[in-house]
Amino acid sequence: MYVVGLTGGIASGKTTVADLIASEGINLVDADIVARQVVAIGSQGLAQISAHFGEHILLDDGSLNRGLLREKIFSDNANKQWLNDLLHPLIRTELLAQLAASDSPYTLLVVPLLVENKLTTLCNHVLVVDVDEQLQIQRTMARDNVSEQQVKAILESQASRQQRLAAADSVVVNNDRQQLVKDTAVLHQKFLELAATAMAD
Ligand code: ATP
Repeated sequence: MYVVGLTGGIASGKTTVADLIASEGINLVDADIVARQVVAIGSQGLAQISAHFGEHILLDDGSLNRGLLREKIFSDNANKQWLNDLLHPLIRTELLAQLAASDSPYTLLVVPLLVENKLTTLCNHVLVVDVDEQLQIQRTMARDNVSEQQVKAILESQASRQQRLAAADSVVVNNDRQQLVKDTAVLHQKFLELAATAMAD
């Protein structure tokens, strides 16, 4: 299996790029979806969270009360660490299982926090979506209806543009949609070739 990791900051255009690549018949594995699957009703992850925090961490329908969990870890580093120690291996294992099950010429692994969570180790190639910071701020404000200050706080909490670019094997710039569509098509061809070469080795 050949894995292309796709990452980028908030509202950089990951979903836009992922949709373009998926439309070429490439399978996606999405870390945000997997992060929800490992704490879904009936999962081992949810059972452990409920045993640790108590059953009041569950909503009436048995699903995780995410708001309450966020509160519990917000001001408590020990709880935060405990949760990370539980979830990170579960997420990694599930990501690997979904990647192994993929049958397209390569698989796109979409992970917003690829660099922060050191998931680059799962990838053969890392594609970073880069965007001018001012545009990124404007797009986030328009999409999420948040203030410039709130966007800047989110940017501060994520890897810096430089840190992300340092982890990149390829970069696609999303300052302009038409250019992005063209550049993504070229990159898709490149990934097909890289995957074919890697498989032949
Ligand atoms: P997040 O991880 O924050 O959910 P993302 O990286 O997946 O975001 P997208 O959802 O693809 O980013 O794009 C973020 C927002 O910016 C969306 O509202 C999208 O419509 C808009 N957008 C993306 N690319 C462009 C572009 N080239 N020009 C204008 N708007 C764009």
